[in-house]
Amino acid sequence: EGVPICGELLLENIAFRYGKDAPWIFKNFSLYIPAGQTVAVVGETGCGKSTLVNLICRFYEPEEGSIQIDGRDYREWTQHWLHSQLGYVVQTPLLFSGTVRENIRYGRLDATDDEIEQAARDANAYAFIERLEQGFDTPVGEGGALLSVGQKQLICLARALVANPRIIVLDEATSSVDTETEVLIQGAINRLLAGRTSIVIAHRLSTIRNADRIILMDKGRIIEDGDHQSL
Ligand code: ATP
Ligand code: MG
Repeated sequence: EGVPICGELLLENIAFRYGKDAPWIFKNFSLYIPAGQTVAVVGETGCGKSTLVNLICRFYEPEEGSIQIDGRDYREWTQHWLHSQLGYVVQTPLLFSGTVRENIRYGRLDATDDEIEQAARDANAYAFIERLEQGFDTPVGEGGALLSVGQKQLICLARALVANPRIIVLDEATSSVDTETEVLIQGAINRLLAGRTSIVIAHRLSTIRNADRIILMDKGRIIEDGDHQSL
């Protein structure tokens, strides 16, 4: 507690199902991710990608087996500590009806204005925010309704960057944005993943290509595990 983690992640012999009478999604599932590695997870719909995310983010707990961060069972870390070290970015962006600044600060409540502006720059969001009528103090509307989908995604990436967690779980969106915004988002994602342990449910070919490792899943099993060259 209080010491930053390295971000080594181990799922060991996990068994999981969404209820006592539900079918097993994982049985004897193991996955080791060394600190700093970017892993792209791919596989057909229903193979268990989001369930894997649910377990890593502790939205659900496995029935058997353990999940360890830096060699310690994650139940030994407090929820608060886990949340400060593990970031989760859904790309169906969830903004609340405050200002742009408040929405970015949500990543880390004690972030200074300078840190928020730096995160916005790193997320390639600064230019569009500056063009808004009230800049960082512009209200985003209910659920971010006053912004485009791409702008919301950039704000979510800025939010994750300001939190600066050691582990990032990214569920990539399939929603399409224009080519220019796509380039901005891709740059922001690359910056977010760099140097962190990252698990990405990948839809972009570029994300898969940039990953250190690609895992192909089928019915709750890993059927391929390698780099872009070997697969
Ligand atoms: P997609 O590519 O469509 O997002 P996925 O690989 O993320 O698919 P999961 O969402 O992990 O797949 O689903 C794996 C299995 O678990 C599916 O059979 C699904 O119906 C089931 N499942 C997923 N979420 C729940 C839930 N909250 N409650 C009950 N069953 C669920
Ligand atoms: Mg899914």
